[in-house]
Amino acid sequence: MQEVCKYAEHVSVSLLLAQRQAQGEQGEKELMTNVRVLYIEDNAENRLLVRRVLEAEGCSVLEAADGSSGLEVAAQTRPDLILLDINLPEIDGYDLARRFRDTPGLRQVPILAITANVMKGDRERTLAAGCDGYIQKPIDVDRLPEQIRATLRRVNT
Ligand code: MN
Repeated sequence: MQEVCKYAEHVSVSLLLAQRQAQGEQGEKELMTNVRVLYIEDNAENRLLVRRVLEAEGCSVLEAADGSSGLEVAAQTRPDLILLDINLPEIDGYDLARRFRDTPGLRQVPILAITANVMKGDRERTLAAGCDGYIQKPIDVDRLPEQIRATLRRVNT
């Protein structure tokens, strides 16, 4: 009888841990589900790659290939998060980030900069322009969802 009780106790603890873990994973998944991400990027291959990764996480992905259409799409759709390439033709990412920060209705939207610039001071420049975070190119598709989740958690708390 004692053996059975021990066994039952053991099962309930494992069950509880499993439930907690499932809830945790569920919470992580929900953090991304239906999140609308606008990706402003002039490189079509990167756009396709990021779209695939984020759609698999349950996000919906909007795209813009340059700064002016990025501003337009952002104003029309009010995305939940903006992924912003820094090296863009005409209006660069720094300038765009500043414009988003000056636009009512868009200034709260978290911006995650994506850039191949790894010179000293580049990270600070993106943050000074109003970005909430910084991802280095080439994009690591295994880390991207967590990098986005971390940004969403940070701005939501
Ligand atoms: Mn680019």
